[in-house]
Amino acid sequence: MSTVSGPVVRLDFQPTGPDAVTGSPNREYARALGALSGVAQTLRELGLRTPAAASILEAQAMMAEDPVLAERVRSFVDGGKSAEEALRNAFDSFRPGIAAAGRAADLDDVCRRAVWAAQGTLPGTGGLIEYPHVVVALDLAPADLAALEESVIAIVTAQGGPTSHTAILARAMGIPAVTGWTEALSLRDGEVVTVDSDAGVVSRGVTAARPVATPAIANGGPQGVLLQANIGSSADIAQALSAGAQGVGLLRSEFMTGYAEVIAAFPGKPVVIRVFDAGADKPLPFLAKTQEPNPSLGVRGLRALRAHPDVLTAQLRAIAEAGGAQVMAPMVGDQQDAAWFAAQARSFGLSPGAMIEVPAAAVLAREILSEVDFVSVGTNDLVQYTLAADRQLAAMAPLQNPWHPAVLRLISWVGQAAQATGKPAGVCGEAAADPRLAPVLVGLGMSSLSMSPHAIAAVRAALSAYTLEQCRELAQNAIG
Ligand code: PEP
Ligand code: MG
Repeated sequence: MSTVSGPVVRLDFQPTGPDAVTGSPNREYARALGALSGVAQTLRELGLRTPAAASILEAQAMMAEDPVLAERVRSFVDGGKSAEEALRNAFDSFRPGIAAAGRAADLDDVCRRAVWAAQGTLPGTGGLIEYPHVVVALDLAPADLAALEESVIAIVTAQGGPTSHTAILARAMGIPAVTGWTEALSLRDGEVVTVDSDAGVVSRGVTAARPVATPAIANGGPQGVLLQANIGSSADIAQALSAGAQGVGLLRSEFMTGYAEVIAAFPGKPVVIRVFDAGADKPLPFLAKTQEPNPSLGVRGLRALRAHPDVLTAQLRAIAEAGGAQVMAPMVGDQQDAAWFAAQARSFGLSPGAMIEVPAAAVLAREILSEVDFVSVGTNDLVQYTLAADRQLAAMAPLQNPWHPAVLRLISWVGQAAQATGKPAGVCGEAAADPRLAPVLVGLGMSSLSMSPHAIAAVRAALSAYTLEQCRELAQNAIG
């Protein structure tokens, strides 16, 4: 598909680190040579990862290993230059000859990488970006393209023409690209753009070129889906507001107790406050006191609150006094849990909800919904418990997969329970932040998705490409 929409991620590929303080010529030479051999190795690794770029990257690796280049670096450091300066000067001395062969950009890229390596700074890709995004940069060298993550859905650059290396390589890699778009650098991080690589056109926002279902899906309302924010700090509030969050689907009260601040930031919009989820990954010493061999299977969440009802009472009172309206309980296990929590919450005039984080709760969603006003699926814990894989253990990371059919079928039960009882079910775990999974969750019957604020733009863009019917089809395919 040549037309795609997604949020912008700006990449700035200029070395920013300071040149190191100059040491002895031998030391500077060793630093420069180390940087050059590191660059050659990285370029070859990138070539293995992206075969379409392999020959260009091999040629660049050979530039970095050129013995004449090393000799020139040696003479510059002997003249008192730092490793970084010597590298710049040595590469510059090759430029006229290389430029005549039309390879200046490749040479400049090797130089830039060598200086980075000498400085010990890495290219700023902004960390691992898991959601589909459009990369926007002044220009991208072949190695930059080869290093792009799989979540890049399109590329926009300010420099370069349609036959530039970038454009050709992007085509070979199957990534829609518009190069030489002079307004590229006026795009902001997070802004949603539509990139039509066939027409060479970039437009701001999601265009209506494709059949989209924005009003039905992304705007809330009777048939719509609320896109909300998970909040754990004041900084999240600002991000949520700028992302256009339709309220707060999960306020993690273990991290943020300024309830009034959050409520005031979202006038007229729902703010769901999760009462203390103590234990396991969120130790709260005043609630989860004892050392347990398996804290995630122990006295945590609602279990800890049932053991210390005075703490829950104090918290519910504080929430009511702050003007709160909706509260939900973590780690609800069954109907009795839900009934107990609902009674406590209602006694303070608060609307109760239950998190669905334990498989038992998903299976019993209908009974639980008969006690509370809404449910919210915490996929982080639901995945952990369904697949018996500790979410805190790096070795179990490959099993933390919300796409697992067992997890999706449990969520589909929750969706069916919501439909049967006429009460809302949403998702507030990390799965809601995955733009590819979001339409599936909607198709499973979820009417709100609450996520880290930074993910809202991408999820909104993704959902705008589907009708509710299409979401249901996706869901059917996904649950297997
Ligand atoms: C979850 O378990 O998915 C959830 C939203 O709660 P937390 O990540 O805070 O445990
Ligand atoms: Mg949880």
